[in-house]
Amino acid sequence: MAAEPLHFAPPVRGSSEFFCSNPRCRFHVRVGDPGVEGFGDWARLADGTTTSHHWVDGDLLCDLCAQRRNREYPRR
Ligand SMILES: [Zn+2]
Repeated sequence: MAAEPLHFAPPVRGSSEFFCSNPRCRFHVRVGDPGVEGFGDWARLADGTTTSHHWVDGDLLCDLCAQRRNREYPRR
């Protein structure tokens, strides 16, 4: 990831439509979808898994994906 563009611009509206922007994530859901509880900064799936989310390098990621990304692309 050498030439990743900087993400200083505010997020485009709509990019936070999904609770987690990783399409392979279990939390790639919209708040309000069937089986999803929560609002704002947290969500709970039907199986009881609860997580929060926050912006990481311009992507809105749940805690699970944020941890994975930090492992794969550790900050200096
Ligand atoms: Zn995720």
